[in-house]
Amino acid sequence: MARYTGSLCRLCRRESMKMFLKGTRCYTEKCAFERRKYPPGQHGHNRGKLSDYGLQLREKQKVKRIYGVMERQFKNYFEKATKMKGVTGENLLKLLERRLDNVVYRMGFAINRRQARQLVRHGFFLVNGKKVNIPSYLVRTGDIVEIVQKGKELEIVKESLAMAEQRGFPAWLEVNTEEMKGKLLRLPERQEIQLPVQEQLIVEFYSK
Ligand code: SF4
Repeated sequence: MARYTGSLCRLCRRESMKMFLKGTRCYTEKCAFERRKYPPGQHGHNRGKLSDYGLQLREKQKVKRIYGVMERQFKNYFEKATKMKGVTGENLLKLLERRLDNVVYRMGFAINRRQARQLVRHGFFLVNGKKVNIPSYLVRTGDIVEIVQKGKELEIVKESLAMAEQRGFPAWLEVNTEEMKGKLLRLPERQEIQLPVQEQLIVEFYSK
């Protein structure tokens, strides 16, 4: 499957926001966005005002990059969101939040979604007792996500979980740090998905 292999910090600078795509570095003063809060490239300093289309495009790119999803898959999520009851933009974010790699990240088993995706691909997670190695697998309310025994020994997992515990877990998830497992209690409300994005602009982008 295609994936972005360029600089992750460059993406944060392009979208003018911290997207926490790396690990502990994102929480330190070494963060590239903290040091250079302007878009990358020769004209980064002098970027003019964006058109409506430009704003919509940037918002779409931002969300795609945060969740690490490629264009076609993102469009599929959008189409699915339009068929669901409720507000399309919110539905889109809720679908993305249900991805197994995101749930693993939100439960604190990985320092970022990229690492979560890698752990899932390598078969480190069970959903309701069955191995699932598909990062895009959509977790449902009531599902139990747990790490396999060999994963419990991994230092990266232990460190990440300790950091997540300090930050606190989202209210829509229940995490048992001793047993290294968690449950999706309910879908998140929009205000619980703490992303500074205007999803309505993405709806406008695809509605043209
Ligand atoms: Fe983004 Fe800063 Fe993390 Fe780099 S270190 S990925 S700029 S948040």
